[in-house]
Amino acid sequence: MKHKKAFAGIGLAMSAALVLAGCSGDGGGGSDPEVQEDVQFEEGTTMAALAEKGSITVGTKFDQPLFGLAGPDGTPEGFDVEIAKIIAAELGIAPENIDWVETVSQNREPFIQDGQVDIVVATYTINDDRKEVIDFAGPYYVAGQSFLVPAGNPKGITSDPEQLGDATVCTVTGSTSEENIREYTDSVITVDKYSDCIEPIRSGQADALTTDNVILAGLVDQNGDEFEVVDGFFTEEPYGVGLQKGDDEFRDFINDTLEASYEDGRWENAWQSTVGDNLTMPEPPEVDRY
Ligand code: GLU
Repeated sequence: MKHKKAFAGIGLAMSAALVLAGCSGDGGGGSDPEVQEDVQFEEGTTMAALAEKGSITVGTKFDQPLFGLAGPDGTPEGFDVEIAKIIAAELGIAPENIDWVETVSQNREPFIQDGQVDIVVATYTINDDRKEVIDFAGPYYVAGQSFLVPAGNPKGITSDPEQLGDATVCTVTGSTSEENIREYTDSVITVDKYSDCIEPIRSGQADALTTDNVILAGLVDQNGDEFEVVDGFFTEEPYGVGLQKGDDEFRDFINDTLEASYEDGRWENAWQSTVGDNLTMPEPPEVDRY
């Protein structure tokens, strides 16, 4: 057993705010934020360039129900997708002019750094290591790391990673989930996407999947009654919008947009139209203008 991190105490408070309600959302059709017309931005800014181009490239997850899940035509749906649509709309860009690119956990920083995407909205935890190479606006949501287990929880896994015993856990390469769980155990299988952990659990190769509670809730919802999420959390994961490092004007613009969306109901609509009743409606977190 490795050393315990300082998060164990926050689980109960957060689980009270995020109780699984056990029913599906409304299908994730989206909140359709009003697209601004005749937008004006200072010349030379990223906002001006994107508005002029009339499109934006957004990196998001394609395999995470509730936050970012690609439909049959390849267009993703979910809360992250709606947050990106709110930002695009404020740039005068309609949802159909967003180019969606699938990002997995480990390619988010490189995709931002080399300009393959303009922003990443992808269950993306703000942390100091990532801030070395990219910047974050937000947070726009705060999740917490937990465990998905087979229904009935045969291994008796709890949200306390100190109690994992001989359990093998599956998680995703390059995620904070991997970094956090390795503090406690070496019995870790890593894959590229969280949905790739489902088969190893079915086959008994892994006993649990560990990542953010909201991702786990989406996977439970997608798989009928086959799995459950254990109560509580052992980390705090503030989700940010990733953008190129040093683009302070763009970061301010996204932060302003997020704050406005908290006030005028767009953020709440985004939640209701995607996550809906799957999780209790949270309060929007305070934006961190570091
Ligand atoms: N929020 C965590 C992270 O950014 C885990 C979820 C994910 O991999 O997207 O790494």
